[in-house]
Amino acid sequence: MTQPKKLFIKTYGCQMNVYDSERMAEALGGNGYVEVGSPDEADMILLNTCHIREKAAEKVYSELGRFKGLKSEKPDLKIGVAGCVAQAEGEEIMRRQPMVDLVVGPQSYHRLPEMEAKAGAEKVIDTDFPEEDKFEKLKSRPKAKRGPTAFLTVQEGCDKFCAFCVVPYTRGAEVSRPVERVLAEARDLVDRGVREITLLGQNVNAYHGAGPDGGDWSLARLIRELAEIDDLARIRFTTSHPNDMDDDLIAAHGDCEKLMPYLHLPVQSGSDKILKRMNRSHDRDSYLRLIERIRTARPDILISGDFIVGFPEETDEDFRDTMRLIEEVNYGQAFSFKYSTRPGTPAAERSQVPEDVKSDRLQELQALITRQQRAVQDAMVGREVGVLIERPGRMPGQMVGKSDHLHAVHIQCDLAPGSLARVRIVESGPNSLGGELL
Ligand code: SAM
Ligand code: SF4
Repeated sequence: MTQPKKLFIKTYGCQMNVYDSERMAEALGGNGYVEVGSPDEADMILLNTCHIREKAAEKVYSELGRFKGLKSEKPDLKIGVAGCVAQAEGEEIMRRQPMVDLVVGPQSYHRLPEMEAKAGAEKVIDTDFPEEDKFEKLKSRPKAKRGPTAFLTVQEGCDKFCAFCVVPYTRGAEVSRPVERVLAEARDLVDRGVREITLLGQNVNAYHGAGPDGGDWSLARLIRELAEIDDLARIRFTTSHPNDMDDDLIAAHGDCEKLMPYLHLPVQSGSDKILKRMNRSHDRDSYLRLIERIRTARPDILISGDFIVGFPEETDEDFRDTMRLIEEVNYGQAFSFKYSTRPGTPAAERSQVPEDVKSDRLQELQALITRQQRAVQDAMVGREVGVLIERPGRMPGQMVGKSDHLHAVHIQCDLAPGSLARVRIVESGPNSLGGELL
């Protein structure tokens, strides 16, 4: 029997990259690869990169530099770069790091097995935007058992062109996967033990996949159909754009029991002037009204967001508007970033905010978010919540899972991963909750 070849994948960036890495590993399984946890033993190393903020490409180049020794010890080692840096840098990667054998952009992953077979003997590169469903063409997921949670990409790309963002350039125009394919993949995941699926997309709520009835289906309709799968217990989705939260999706938060009470809804800034310059096409007031409507549909929903501080021409007053918006919304979680210049995007050409000002604003904003996050978490103490058990904890006899609101919860119990428990929250720590089985 031939020995399987060993594949090491390092994933940077968002959940969409995590999903892509899983699918690439499965596809390369057909070429005889099994995944390993360290580059030292690998026959192939694949970096699945992210280009959303500055220095991403530089980080990839320095990571590649670290593999030089491995490649000289093992000349047959294949080195590949995938993801958005691959898309953005293309041939430049092989020019700067000649030991790279393969460069593949996010829209060409279905061609990876073919590319891997050629790599080594020749340099292979593919950064096209082909007109085909790459996930359909990728080898279907093997039937092995899986953990209780899974990501499932349903939509990719973006046509919104926010002035700071590279996604429309690296991931291309918005495309939704057909309903039947999403349902088939979801059923397959559930057959293999998955109880919770997170639907992914750069703008997941802009989903408009072709339905079996010929019409375009919205995300809400897709979620309602997924909810019919018996053993699927929970559905989540991320990331949403405020302008694509339609009435049916808001209503689904109130009436679809399997849709979890957590919504990631980035606003980026609380200043109308900055939102306009960001080309966000929503304003502060429309965002706040939207949050109100969502909370009317599902009063206990946990709202999460994304913020950029120090966008070009952001004044102190603009920043204060962002802080006031955060006070008004009261976030249960948030991700915040200093504005990072992305060459080729409109904002890169504008007058920049000094780095130290950005740092001060970020620190202040993060302190407020941390306080809110902690208060929302502390308010869970005494409440009964659902917890999906995922894995053993660090303490003997302890299991860890996620609550409906996506908080990590530690419980003393002997329930197996995949069990759904009713739990009373009894304590709140810095990053997680403690619960008792009911
Ligand atoms: N589509 C989502 C939306 O409209 O909010 C966001 C997707 S983007 C991949 C994830 C987050 O990265 C954004 O919400 C934004 O906060 C952050 N981001 C994107 N470009 C950035 C930049 N140039 N500098 C700093 N943060 C950035
Ligand atoms: Fe980027 Fe999101 Fe704006 Fe699209 S909507 S350009 S992904 S921030």
